[in-house]
Amino acid sequence: MKRVYNFSAGPSMLPQSVLERAANEMLDYEGSGQSVMEMSHRSKIYGTIIEGAEALLREVMNIPDNYKVLFLQGGASTQFAAIPLNLGVNSGKADYVITGQWATKAQKEAARYIDANIVASSKDKTFSYIPKLDPDTFTKDADYFYICMNNTIYGTVYHELPETGNVPLVADISSCILSQPIDVSKFGILYAGAQKNMAPAGLTVVIIREDLIGHAKDITPTMLNYKTHADNGSMFNTPPCYTIYIAKLVLEWIKNDIGGLEKMKEINEKKASILYNFLDNSNLFRGTVVPEDRSLMNVPFVTGNEELDAKFVKEATENDFVNIKGHRTVGGMRASIYNAMPIEGVEKLVKFMGEFEARNI
Ligand SMILES: *Cc1c(COP(=O)(O)O)cnc(C)c1O
Repeated sequence: MKRVYNFSAGPSMLPQSVLERAANEMLDYEGSGQSVMEMSHRSKIYGTIIEGAEALLREVMNIPDNYKVLFLQGGASTQFAAIPLNLGVNSGKADYVITGQWATKAQKEAARYIDANIVASSKDKTFSYIPKLDPDTFTKDADYFYICMNNTIYGTVYHELPETGNVPLVADISSCILSQPIDVSKFGILYAGAQKNMAPAGLTVVIIREDLIGHAKDITPTMLNYKTHADNGSMFNTPPCYTIYIAKLVLEWIKNDIGGLEKMKEINEKKASILYNFLDNSNLFRGTVVPEDRSLMNVPFVTGNEELDAKFVKEATENDFVNIKGHRTVGGMRASIYNAMPIEGVEKLVKFMGEFEARNI
């Protein structure tokens, strides 16, 4: 068997122990004589899986009791519409910070339903930084304030949250969920597609303060109304059963093998610092993000020469460092080093980069 180091931005690596456990349980889950894939979502045994996943997520993320956890489908992208439809109901206004492609898409979708105001943007420098925010410029009566916390494509992250006062803060945390502790109580909604740091594709987790549920616009499709799913324990229709099961295994791995999110953060900081230190001292490669806004999860870098970038991607792939090509809108390279990427994977990548540098400079 061969396993590569997969630097994909998503879907991405899963912990090997999780894959092994899923393989062991594939044909007969806990004596049920069936795979989790084959189970009725309304069976008692599946109930223990979805309830266990929620309980673990609440424990690992320290989610307060006045928040609901919803297990939904449609990817993070479906939330771009669900959020304005459910929350944009009083003034019909919201503020958006444009820090990349995902925030842009979210704002464009929201603008179909509400007045989606752009308060700041870092588009002028290819989203290589997080704009400084001045609360005086925020819409006072906004129904919510929207950020994309970790910008998967450009490799930036908010180290400080905007001061939004009573306006609920909504954050897309698709590419940083479970990477470090987060104070859930500071947010109205946190949401994430699972396929970066939590599970395979097919599951979207929404963590929502209870008082924000139940006010959706009349035109909201039943399936996009948070109340539908909150009232039915994410079982209004068939949930993404198998993906929720893998999420449960990943949460068990974080809790028991890693030791929780503080520990996860330490490991992620160690991995990121190995790569950033290398980039800061390299004579060939350089990171594309301002140092103060660098992401722990996604690390874009370039040589400054497109041909050399392509050569690096090709040779890296041949050496089993796969999916390291940058996003088509940025070029160059991007190493996504999510939770499941072992430290050893980053150490080996940096060693390989050093050798490539020596051969090509
Ligand atoms: C991947 C990603 C998305 C899109 O997720 P889908 O599940 O494919 O819709 C949205 N936001 C961020 C920050 C992402 O990284």
